[in-house]
Amino acid sequence: MQTPFSTPRAAYVHVPFCAHRCGYCDFTVIAGRDDLAGDYLHALELELAALGHPREVDTLFVGGGTPTQLALPELERLLALLQRWLPLSAAGEFSIEANPARFERATADTLRTHGVNRVSLGVQSFSAPLLRTLERDHDAETVARAVDALRGRIDNFGFDLIYGVPEQSLDGWQASLQQAVNLQPAHISTYGLTYEKGTAFWTRRQQQTLTPVDDASEAAMYSTAMDWLPAHGFDQYELSNFARPGRESRHNAVYWQGLPYYGFGPGAAAYVDGTRRTNHRSVTTWLKRVLSGESGVGASETLSTEERAREALWLGLRRTCGVDRSVFAERFEVALDSLAGESLPALIAAGWIADDGRSIRLTRPGRLLADKVAAEFL
Ligand code: SF4
Repeated sequence: MQTPFSTPRAAYVHVPFCAHRCGYCDFTVIAGRDDLAGDYLHALELELAALGHPREVDTLFVGGGTPTQLALPELERLLALLQRWLPLSAAGEFSIEANPARFERATADTLRTHGVNRVSLGVQSFSAPLLRTLERDHDAETVARAVDALRGRIDNFGFDLIYGVPEQSLDGWQASLQQAVNLQPAHISTYGLTYEKGTAFWTRRQQQTLTPVDDASEAAMYSTAMDWLPAHGFDQYELSNFARPGRESRHNAVYWQGLPYYGFGPGAAAYVDGTRRTNHRSVTTWLKRVLSGESGVGASETLSTEERAREALWLGLRRTCGVDRSVFAERFEVALDSLAGESLPALIAAGWIADDGRSIRLTRPGRLLADKVAAEFL
């Protein structure tokens, strides 16, 4: 059994380039600086080479930013680097995030040729006005074209969708879910729009030029996804994630189980030997440091045994299969019930957590109040 101290079998690689920074985005992104792609690839190669020798992984996830913002020759160079330093085990999962805009057949061919077998498209919505609000540069037709490019090349593709967008109605959200399902993806992730400090949306909300949907409407949209997607063949396997049987993300399961992973690129986190190291979020600082032979790590935190277990308990509860008491005790060397203390019986009595004796899991009301449950455990 893997534990937090096992050798990682998963890796995350961050590609920070985007055409434009969307108003709600607080990821590690650099917009309009595609000229830095060569330096980025050079720095990434240096970080990968610090592994000393290639490390086989079972799951590899290339996220962003927009990995497909790289020009094809640069994308090929990136993928070849990953194949060299992080070879994928037989039947491994190699995922990449992509923007539907400018996603061509040649892009899908390049990905497939280099072993990518799962693509997550940042669709967000099928409504033109909402996509404009979100400052996205695609429309429903663009998504259909990207799906055409993937079909027959990489059939394991999924969509990210956002609900709770200003002016979005419940009917509009359901229409987006319907349009998503019509395109027959393998996976759908649904995220409530958040207003993170430092983003343009946060400022606009402060200035009251952007009005969030109310909490009850947002909860109704989440509830609709939890009813509607399973009724259309997509099982909910995590708070935000729905998949056709067998198409669940194996990479994200590593995070949710508190297992170790490598991380490369600006802003990327790695979790190795119980220590979490996060690279500098400023792309230019990360570049400058790595290219001058210094470490790109900006922050490092070694979790105590209890912190590790508490975090894993909460992350595990995000999954609809919940947390198995015996697996948890073996992996984290502490009994779930003694760690959770008084909180657990109280949450069970409140109807937010279900307990079948072997494992605990969030109930449906518990999923709607997940942040409050997390606060009890962290
Ligand atoms: S495309 Fe995605 S990563 Fe890039 S700015 Fe927009 S939300 Fe952020």
